Amino acid sequence: ASAAAGLSSTATSFPTTHDKISDVQNTPFFVDNKFVSSSTTEFIDLHDPATNNLVTRVPQNTDAELQAAVASAQKAFETWRATSVLHRQQIMFKLVGLIRENWDRLAASITLEQGKTFADAKGDVLRGLQVAEAACGAPELLKGEVLEVAKDMETRTYREPLGVVAAICPFNFPAMIPLWCIPIATVTGNTLILKPSERDPGAAMILAELCQKAGFPDGVVNIVHGAHRTVNFILDEPAIKAVSFVGGNKAGEYIFTRGSANGKRVQANLGAKNHAAVLPDCNKNQFLNAVVGAAFGAAGQRCMALSTLVMVGETKDWLPELAERAKALSVNGGFEPGADLGPVITPQSKARIESLIASAEAEGANILLDGRGFKPAKYPNGNWVAPTIISNVTPQMQCYREEIFGPVLVCLNVDTLDEAIELINANEYGNGVAIFTRSGPTAETFRRRIEAGQVGINVPIPVPLPMFSFTGNKKSIAGGGASTFYGRPGINFYTQQKTVTAMWSAEDAISKKADVAMPTHS
Ligand code: NAD
Repeated sequence: ASAAAGLSSTATSFPTTHDKISDVQNTPFFVDNKFVSSSTTEFIDLHDPATNNLVTRVPQNTDAELQAAVASAQKAFETWRATSVLHRQQIMFKLVGLIRENWDRLAASITLEQGKTFADAKGDVLRGLQVAEAACGAPELLKGEVLEVAKDMETRTYREPLGVVAAICPFNFPAMIPLWCIPIATVTGNTLILKPSERDPGAAMILAELCQKAGFPDGVVNIVHGAHRTVNFILDEPAIKAVSFVGGNKAGEYIFTRGSANGKRVQANLGAKNHAAVLPDCNKNQFLNAVVGAAFGAAGQRCMALSTLVMVGETKDWLPELAERAKALSVNGGFEPGADLGPVITPQSKARIESLIASAEAEGANILLDGRGFKPAKYPNGNWVAPTIISNVTPQMQCYREEIFGPVLVCLNVDTLDEAIELINANEYGNGVAIFTRSGPTAETFRRRIEAGQVGINVPIPVPLPMFSFTGNKKSIAGGGASTFYGRPGINFYTQQKTVTAMWSAEDAISKKADVAMPTHS
């Protein structure tokens, strides 16, 4: 029986503990619908963040292997683009069913490799699954427009696939982010090469198996591995027409620039510093719970984590109560029942987070709750940082300027709503923002004036469901936010518009003279 909270008792064919793995295997790559062992000599060791035990070795695919994936995707495109959208929809229905059947297995892989709790990992899978479900609406979403523009003449629009497209994914949502890409890219008729994060590719490999079982033809979905060299290959390969990237600013800005310079479409979702403005008239209990969950859930490793509080007026007096609730969270191995947050991804990440906390101390902020040095008894070797709250922060401090990406909440004080809006708008990131208030007019003023792409009103993590789109803003998205993931904009990203103007006249032309002026359709 599994010790993992919520794991079904029949689920025995995947890890349910952080126990040491005796026969560590290399992760294969996936090309032509087959799992293949890489012939590379370069591997990246992947460790369980709760124990730092070795879980698998991830290959850095060789150039020949990467070229084989491109060749497979190119070949598959010829026939896949010609399939009907109804056929592709049927495969998507099957994929949706298979993801549901393998939900626990996917989540267990995430808990083992990424570290988040099993319950949270199930949410990671669900939010990706919902994109696959929405992609089943492709026949409706791909419909074109038609208008009779003149006598006997009409204009029609079509959305056609681009060809071979690629996705480069981050470590923090090992199932959700691949599922932002796989369903939309393929249901629109493209073939895909996906590179999961080298730190946790396990969920993507399970998704590859499910794609195979769902009936995707050989070469429609391929998974390759590696880090910078694999990314550069993707950016420079002329057969790859579009690149979807989700990750940090350093990699993302580079990928956007190099991919665009090579003539590719690039969509790139980047880093964040999400603020919440807290008004004295809000529902205090709801606010306290919402912020504790959104700041510390997933150990703060969500691009929509609520990492910055802007306490308006007397709400700063609520900080001790907030600290009490944060302190009550259980920090433990993700398979342990009752765990609220797990470890951070790597020892390097832990060291970076701790140095940002130390910088706040040195710059005069107050460490109200200090999560440094915490270790759960059963897992002394993991990458632990317990919930940390830093108060009296000012915008000049390093802990405010940088994305911390750990279980650390920084708190600033202002006197008015206007000051809160000004402070938030001055921040260069603009992924998400929230306001806590009971006042409709206050919320409306905030909604109108705030410069962030996703606004929560008494909702701490306002990630839109897939019938909408993920709309970051400012430095949180490359290219000024022109291209966003999933929803109708996602369909548009993966398709090229074609506009056809046709004339079919039953009458014979009577004029003998060509009309050389610009047609006016009058
Ligand atoms: P990361 O940028 O380090 O890695 C993302 C991907 O880029 C990986 O596949 C990695 O192999 C590759 N990569 C990393 N550095 C590279 C480089 N210098 N050159 C080429 N490729 C490189 O990001 P991460 O640490 O895996 O993920 C965390 C970051 O992702 C955070 O900044 C978070 O805010 C962001 N994120 C954003 C969103 C969003 O929708 N805005 C969603 C999830 C995560």
